Amino acid sequence: MEIRFYNTLTRKKEIFKPINKGKVSLYTCGPTVYNRAHIGNFRTFIFEDVLKRVLQLVGYNVKHVMNITDVDDKTIKKAHEENKKLNKITSKYTSEFMEDLQALKILPADLFPAATDHIQNMIEMISILIENKNAYVADDGSVFFSIDSINDYGKLANLDLKRQKQTDRVAADEYTKDNPRDFALWKAWKVEDGDVFWDSPWGIGRPGWHMECSVMSTKYLGNHFDIHCGGVDNIFPHHENEIAQSCAALGTEFVNIWMHSEHLNMADEKMSKSLGNIKTIPELLDDGHSAESLRYVLISSHYRSKLSFSSNKLDDARKAVHRINDIYNRLQGIISDGNSFPNEYDQFIEALVDDLNTPKALGILFNYLKELNRKIDNDKLTDEESSRGILFIKKADEIFSFLKDKTVIPDEIAKLVAKRNEARKDKNWELSDLLREELKEKGWIVEDTLDGSKCYSA
Ligand code: AMP
Ligand code: ZN
Repeated sequence: MEIRFYNTLTRKKEIFKPINKGKVSLYTCGPTVYNRAHIGNFRTFIFEDVLKRVLQLVGYNVKHVMNITDVDDKTIKKAHEENKKLNKITSKYTSEFMEDLQALKILPADLFPAATDHIQNMIEMISILIENKNAYVADDGSVFFSIDSINDYGKLANLDLKRQKQTDRVAADEYTKDNPRDFALWKAWKVEDGDVFWDSPWGIGRPGWHMECSVMSTKYLGNHFDIHCGGVDNIFPHHENEIAQSCAALGTEFVNIWMHSEHLNMADEKMSKSLGNIKTIPELLDDGHSAESLRYVLISSHYRSKLSFSSNKLDDARKAVHRINDIYNRLQGIISDGNSFPNEYDQFIEALVDDLNTPKALGILFNYLKELNRKIDNDKLTDEESSRGILFIKKADEIFSFLKDKTVIPDEIAKLVAKRNEARKDKNWELSDLLREELKEKGWIVEDTLDGSKCYSA
């Protein structure tokens, strides 16, 4: 199947060709754990979740690494403000992040490496860059990457460096740098850093943020891997600098496809911790919104379009999620054991593999469900159609996770219900009762209604 993704680096949609057949190596920039992540962050994490689920659905084995940024200016500042050890702060927000991932039904990464566990690896990469003359040590013991040492700096963010104003130097107060755009690989210790420092050949200090991701991505996925993601604010300087460091240090290609999701806005402004216009996942759940509705809001527009968060969108999402759960429940009564899909399913998958066109895929799904509902209302739905409908919804749920947990009936249970329906058709009441008992033992109740048998978790 031909999959196409928009590559920020080439600024066009490209046919996705994995480096290793059948496998995808995926790195997604994780949270900076100095505060509770907000729903804006989760727009990016859910885009990445959908990307991973689509790759898995079409048959790829995905190795997914998401880092935890547990040392940087913000985490240190927070620890200082609260007069706590750095790891007290970062472990608290890492646990909360994991809780939110779970609450939003985001599939966990295979690995969540933390920056502070990889300082030695970072020192090694920085040493190579100094040896290769791509980096230099400043008077205070900080190490900077020299962007003049490579000829393609700016290629990801499409920067025209010649037009860059020299006044940046003064504003940034970076007088020890050769070029104002040179960025820190290693930051020499300052008083504000308190007890946060590591030994290095250049004196005590800590790594720069970009270095963390260059090291952790290549350590776990190899020097050259398939896809690297983040939000658009990561393009520059973070990902641009990652490319510069990794390519210069490793002398290989680094990432094939760079994918970035647009921002979630709150009243036309980027939702961000620094602007204070944020909503966290527990706040939204406490307000009565379900995880499924929150996922729906974030998935219902294309990941490369800006999205405004609003109560209207949450209302629409609630209704859409209700509709899909309702029809799924109605179909449960008419379970049969088929395994073919309706024609619309192919169109649905085609939309998803065309740069994750989730709004189009949802449109196809909901048009199909409307027709299905009409047939149920008119008592015109055949068993075959019902089983196709169930399969389609289940597959769509593998991507979107809209079904409320209690309505997701595992295959093993669905098969027992279907077997029991057959027994009832044959008037084999003894077998039907035995199957009801077996279901009960497994924690599922079946109820026989005029519409057929309904099954739900006890
Ligand atoms: P941070 O914790 O600030 O490092 O951000 C974690 C991820 O969330 C990064 O990939 C950011 O690009 C992304 N992000 C931050 N704010 C937003 C937003 N308002 N909308 C979408 N993604 C965001
Ligand atoms: Zn990163």
